[in-house]
Amino acid sequence: MGQGLSCRTKEEKELFSAVQVGDVEFFHQVLTRDSTLAHSFTLYDRNSTLHIAAANGQIEIISLLLDRFVKPDVVNRYKQTPLMLASMHGKILCLKKLIESGADILMFDSLNGRTCLHYAAYYGHLDCLEAILSIARTSPVAASWGFSRFVNIRDSKGATPLHLAARQKRPQCARMLLSNGALVCASTGGYGYPGSTPLHLAARSGSLECIRELLAWGADRLQRDSSGRIPYTVALGHSHGACAALLNPSSLEPLVWPSPLKFMSELNDEVKSLLEEALLSANKEREKAIFKGTAFSIPSPSPSDSCINDEVSSESSEVDLCSICFDQVCTIEVRECGHQMCAQCTLALCCHNKPSPTKPCSSPQLVCPFCRSSISKLVVAAASQDVKPRKSRRWRNHNEGCSSIKSLSFGKTGRIAAADDDELLNKPVVEELD
Ligand SMILES: [Zn+2]
Ligand SMILES: [Zn+2]
Repeated sequence: MGQGLSCRTKEEKELFSAVQVGDVEFFHQVLTRDSTLAHSFTLYDRNSTLHIAAANGQIEIISLLLDRFVKPDVVNRYKQTPLMLASMHGKILCLKKLIESGADILMFDSLNGRTCLHYAAYYGHLDCLEAILSIARTSPVAASWGFSRFVNIRDSKGATPLHLAARQKRPQCARMLLSNGALVCASTGGYGYPGSTPLHLAARSGSLECIRELLAWGADRLQRDSSGRIPYTVALGHSHGACAALLNPSSLEPLVWPSPLKFMSELNDEVKSLLEEALLSANKEREKAIFKGTAFSIPSPSPSDSCINDEVSSESSEVDLCSICFDQVCTIEVRECGHQMCAQCTLALCCHNKPSPTKPCSSPQLVCPFCRSSISKLVVAAASQDVKPRKSRRWRNHNEGCSSIKSLSFGKTGRIAAADDDELLNKPVVEELD
């Protein structure tokens, strides 16, 4: 009997190695001989064949196991599911296959009470995070838990996926979570220092990019943790000088994503990413002012700043320039009126007009700066894809002969100046043309 056991152990070991390296043929042979081996576990961690295949990205083996032998939600010693291991190791194909086979996204491990969403955020696997969020919108989880509750799901120490992304310096994951409704000012229970917000954790890890994202989504620089510290103090304590400069409550306020505007929650992905880029680049301009005269400068100047602008200007005879700043190409079209602007000016308009949080107003309205009709939707401007002369081009040609409008052309710095000046934005520069 003892011999039988060790024989089986040897066979299992070989099987696990085959799973690990993806030797499908050998794996298939073994299971044909003895299909119960599909349910083997490793000795100590109690990982199943499915766990090992998920962690190693062996999609063929996963498919074989799920189609014929095992259920997707088998757990190991730490109550981790194969789905959690796929999220941890960024194995997107395996993750998708597991989800298709009915893996539950709402299971908690026994280590820290974390879900697959925590794992994806912690380890920074954006594609996995996206896949989980997308299934969470449609799966029974959405019905039973509610999507936004799932996005803000807490581990046993009160950390949400956003807290983990901020702590682990995962700015892209942070952005994806925020744009899916993660609460920017949530406090942890015991994770990190008690009462930490994502901003405290980003300050502690010294992630300038996470801090940018969090501030742009409205994180409060004055919120205190349980020991009374603001994120600025935390950044100073860890000698993250540049982070501290941004977190200093007396520094210039960044632009904040205007989430109260109804149409901002209905943007398609393309418009959304144009505006998000515009927001980050506007805030980087502000950072330059904050860092000016200090030892910190922005490490790698983003290509979206000077060089692209130059490129745009030199090609501008062929494309539609924005009639507000005369600097950027029109990429956004306002519906229903059809007027066009660049992403920067659109964003400045939305942020500038964002309703005060003290004013009770359930669905704030925003109007087109050209014709004053109310904005119901923003779409990608057709002119940004083809370069045929269009409406806004005619306006520009007309404007060239008009001195009062010419004075609005303020070159590079004009982008920001115009954005801050309500009067300029609201001038009906062009409406009499049609
Ligand atoms: Zn513009
Ligand atoms: Zn209009």
